[in-house]
Formats: sequence, C-alpha cells, structure tokens
Amino acid sequence: MTKNFYMGKYDVIVVGAGHAGCEAALSSARLGLNTLVFSINLESIAMMACNPSVGATGKAHLVREIDALGGEMGINIDKASIQSRMLNTAKGPAVHSLRMQADKHLYHTEMKKVLERQENLDIKQGEVVDLFIEDQTVKGVITRTGAFYETKAVILATGTFLKGRIFLGEWSYEGGPSGLSASLELSDNLKKHGLSLRRFKTGTPARVDGKTLNYEKMQEQPGDEETIPFSFTNDNLHKSRVSCWLTYTNKETHSVILDNINRSALYGGQIEGVGPRYCPSIEDKLVRFADKERHQLFIEPEGLDTDEVYIQGMSTSLPEDVQEKFYRTIQGLENAKIVRSAYAIEYDCINPIDLKLTLEHKNFNNLFCAGQFNGSSGYEEAAAQGLMAGINAALKIKEQDPFIIDRSEGYIGVLIDDLVTKGTNEPYRIMTSRAEYRLILRQDNADLRLTEKGYEIGLINDERYKKFVYKKDKINEEMDRIKSTYIVPKEINPFLEKYNSSPVNNRVTLLELLKRPEITYSALSEIDKNRPELDIRIGEQIEIQIKYSGYIGKQMAQVEKFKKLEKRQLSSDLDYTKIEGLRIEAQQKLNTFKPLSVGQASRISGVSPADINVLLINLERERRKKEG
Ligand SMILES: Cc1cc2nc3c(=O)[nH]c(=O)nc-3n(C[C@H](O)[C@H](O)[C@H](O)COP(=O)(O)OP(=O)(O)OC[C@H]3O[C@@H](n4cnc5c(N)ncnc54)[C@H](O)[C@@H]3O)c2cc1C
Repeated sequence: MTKNFYMGKYDVIVVGAGHAGCEAALSSARLGLNTLVFSINLESIAMMACNPSVGATGKAHLVREIDALGGEMGINIDKASIQSRMLNTAKGPAVHSLRMQADKHLYHTEMKKVLERQENLDIKQGEVVDLFIEDQTVKGVITRTGAFYETKAVILATGTFLKGRIFLGEWSYEGGPSGLSASLELSDNLKKHGLSLRRFKTGTPARVDGKTLNYEKMQEQPGDEETIPFSFTNDNLHKSRVSCWLTYTNKETHSVILDNINRSALYGGQIEGVGPRYCPSIEDKLVRFADKERHQLFIEPEGLDTDEVYIQGMSTSLPEDVQEKFYRTIQGLENAKIVRSAYAIEYDCINPIDLKLTLEHKNFNNLFCAGQFNGSSGYEEAAAQGLMAGINAALKIKEQDPFIIDRSEGYIGVLIDDLVTKGTNEPYRIMTSRAEYRLILRQDNADLRLTEKGYEIGLINDERYKKFVYKKDKINEEMDRIKSTYIVPKEINPFLEKYNSSPVNNRVTLLELLKRPEITYSALSEIDKNRPELDIRIGEQIEIQIKYSGYIGKQMAQVEKFKKLEKRQLSSDLDYTKIEGLRIEAQQKLNTFKPLSVGQASRISGVSPADINVLLINLERERRKKEG
C-alpha cells in the first residue's frame, strides 16, 4: 500500500460526523483522547436527512439514556426543538415517550458549534477512502486527497453514504443523501481488507413548499402546553412554536400509486438492498395492507426559517411525475409544489454480528463501528451506538475495562445486544416491545439507572454529578417521608370522596393512599400539609415507583435471573464441538460466535434452551473437576 503524505497522529479518528459520529467524537474527546472527526461535507454535521424530529416510542428512551451518560443529543434537541409532545400518556409509564419536532438547520448548527468548541477534538472536511491495517490492527486512515493520518483507533460511522445509490423510479445514480456525494472507494477497500459488507436501503418522502398547502383541510396537531426537556441538565423547555397537521391518503391516491407500481424502483426490481419493515414506503403499505382505505400522513415543518415541510408516511421510490400526481390527490395538498423529491437510497453496511458488545470489530483490533453502518435505522439508534463506540475506543486505548450496558440496564443495551447477538436482516429500529424489562427501563428514570456509570467512566462532571446525587437523595427522603406520614380518617375522607375513592376507618400513610389508582401525587398535596417544595420530576418518580412497585418488584426478580446467566462467563477458547449433548447447529453457531456469557449464548438464534442446559451442566462439571 502506497503511503501518502503524513498529516499527523491522533488517538481516535472518527469517519463520519452524522448522529453516530458526533457522539463518538465528543465522548472520545471528553474522555481526554486526541480525536479527529471527518465528514465529506461539514454542512452535513448532524444532518437530519429524513424526519425533522427526535424521540417517540423507544427512541425517546435512547435519547434520555444518551443524556444520562453524558452524551449530547438530548441537550442539542432541547436547543433546536420547535414542538414537544409526550406520546402514549394514556398507557403505562413504560411507554410514555417524548417526541420533539426539530428545526433541522438549528440542530445542525448547534451540534457543529459543540464540536468546534470541544477540547481535544479536531473536525475535518474530507473523504476517507482507505484504512491502514497491519496485523489485523487499524493504524491509520487515508483520504481522497492523499493525506495519511496515523491513529490508535478508528470508528466507522458512515451512515447511508457508503456506495450510496439514489433511486427515483427507473432512474438511479451514485449519490449520498440530500444531494450530497456518496463515499465510493472506502467500500471497495474495506472489502479488500476482508470486511464483509451488504446492501440495505431506506427511503424518504418529498419535501413540499408549505405555502402551497391548504391547512384548513387538515387536522391541527399542536404541541403540548406543558413542555418537558429531553435533557436532565435542563429544568424546563421553551414553549412549542409550531403545529403539525394530519391528513390522509385516499382511494385516488392508492389507484395512482398502484397503476404505476411497476415504475417504482422497489417493485420494478432495481433495488436489491433490504428496507426497514417499520418505516415502509407508501408502495409497501398499499401492498402489505391492501384492505386499508386510507393511511395517516403527518405534515411536519422542517424549521422556523424555511417553508419546507416534510410529509411523514409518504416515502417512495416512484418517479417524480407519479409523485406529483399522487401527492396532489391528498386533502390539503391539491396545489402542492414539491421542492425536494422523495427517493430511496441503497448503501453498504456491515453485518453487526461481526462486532463485539463494545462495537469493536471481532477481526480487526481497534476498529469500532457505529450507526446506520451497523444495520440500524434512525438518528437515536445511531447516536446511542456512536456514544458507546467512542467510550469503548477511549477505554481500550487507556487500557481500562470495556463499558457494556446489558439488556436489564438500558435500551442502549437492548439495541446493541440485539444487533451484535441476534443480528438483523433489515435496518433495525428500536421499539419498546424489544425490551423484556421495559417497566424498569423507562425514559423518566434513565438518569437513576445510568448517570452513576457515566460519572464512573468520566463523562459526567462533578457539578452535574452533585445535582444528580441531590435529586436521588430528595427522592429517597420524600419516599421515606410519605411512608411514615399518617393522616387520620377525619382529614382524608372528604378528599377521598372528591376523588371517588373509598373512605377509610383508620389512619393511613400517604404511601397507601398513593397506591390507589384514582389518587395522584399532585392530588395528595391537598391533604399533605408538610410537603416540601420539590422538582416535578421527583414527584413523577415517587408516583411511578409506588404505583408500579408490585410489577417493578416482579421485573427486578426476573433481572436477577438474567444477570446470573450474564455473569456466567464463557472463554473465547472454548471448543463447543467437544461438549457432549450439544446439537450440531448449536456447536457451529457457538464456535462461530464465541459468546461472552451463557446469557449471550442463550440469545443466539439456533441455540435452544436445551442447549443452554447442556452447556450449564458441562460448565458445572468442569468447575467441579477443577476443584477436584
Ligand atoms: C433517505 C433516507 C431515509 C431515511 N429514513 C429513515 C427512516 O425512515 N427512519 C429512521 O429512523 N431513519 C431514517 N433515516 C435514517 C437516518 O438518517 C440515519 O439513520 C441517521 O442519519 C444515521 O446516522 P449515522 O450517524 O449513522 O449516519 P449519517 O447521519 O448518514 O452520517 C454519516 C456521516 O458520515 C460521513 N461520511 C460517510 N462516508 C465518509 C467517508 N468515506 N469519509 C468521511 N466522511 C464520511 C458523512 O459525511 C456524514 O457526516 C433515513 C436516512 C436517509 C438518508
């Protein structure tokens, strides 16, 4: 390999400044590592190439966890938020999910500012075309313009750019998202080094000129009056400044699309990449849900200083003439002017089962991978992986223990374990249904679960940690107070009658009252004379922990069992063909995969509970033999 001109040495080089790359670069630099982050175009730093929003079910949990660990996404969206809504409030707290509309441009400029001002961090516009790898260890990167940068670790966070190909109907061409150029050479060179890559695809809807829409024909979707910040570092959030709008497809829309479905790149067979099941194109929806008379569409402003609006639910790879025809069949869009056409993009990504739980590649030392490049889809999923890859690259260089979050500690643990242990055959999107311990992995308690860990690894500073400990102490104090505060029937019964709650004959504690579904923590303030002034989020914790204490207790017991199997470590030298009673398929899968623990082994597809029992018996036999 010809070395180009030498441009310096770094501890960590991050290839890509998207949602993954930004978190990776910031966490590595904040942990004291000399870091460089590349982007093909600095205008695409933290670019929201698709939906102008952050959060919603499952994704909000990731944003809160990133924030609790000392990441940037939560703080950044609070700055760029133009509308805030709490979703699923009619359901239990496990699925309550914050969702914020973002001013895309502001989201980009604010994140770019943070990168520019971060100590130990350099940003560079340039395209990385190759890695310098020696003895299966990455030692440098080479750019398109001939520069060679030496480094101790590389984080690949290239998103949808690698061998990007754009599809609009019968037409396709090499390109990255939003009119940017694709990254072509790096893919070929990664394959030459022995990385296996595959093709995924995703799609985005058109952007239309908001001035050409008739909002009177749609239903307004205003933001919440009470706005709640994403970041635990913010006590409050500015009011919502825009509304979204709801409209629907109709019979005419469906017939225009179905009449032209053979011209869709997807149904015309041009696209080979696999798309996200949970973000289907409108063509997919009509084919998969043929009985549905109409599909919801949300009209979402892209920012305060632009007239562009995003048509959520209408991504397509049909050609532009067809797009114009069926977009104009929609109520309120009769005169819509499309300013950016919808398109599908196909791109190269790796198979995440080639990665360890630290997101380091199993076959290449100090090569970490994050984001869409790992087979996920979504800003939040990308940011969570970027944060973890940045932390683990830094810890590895500092020869400190890896940082892993397991499935019982966070959605970040569910996301990464699903990707690297179970793998994915389509762009992976996080959902609350993927988390078996979702009642304890709520968005409201992400700091109580993770901020301590963020402090231990060095991403949470002392000042923030002190605030966090203060909050924890206040929760415990208040919990003790209401456990031991008794109210006599004379004082309570009029209050209980007001809330249609059955009267009491003896004195009861505030805690017992709060267990009643019809009594809320805020309502209790009517009879709770000595209540201290507390942050609303402390009250929220008290109410949830008491009302769901039974379910939480059960789930904690399940977590105990889970942790036991996670703690049963498995050596990477173990030859599973030597374990009697293991089925052939399990032997092959375990030898290929080399799981870290019995728990991880139990989640590998093709390894049955019976195989796990055989493994446990064998481990026990080995242990006794060793102990003689
Ligand atoms: C068309 C489209 C549709 C989408 N649809 C959805 C959806 O339906 N649902 C959803 O949840 N998400 C969707 N997304 C996904 C969302 O945009 C991504 O998930 C998210 O941006 C991924 O973040 P990332 O950091 O992994 O990559 P990106 O945000 O794509 O960032 C990649 C970065 O890498 C840089 N880069 C790439 N190659 C090189 C190189 N060789 N050298 C230097 N820099 C390089 C780029 O400049 C960029 O800064 C869509 C994205 C696109 C483009």
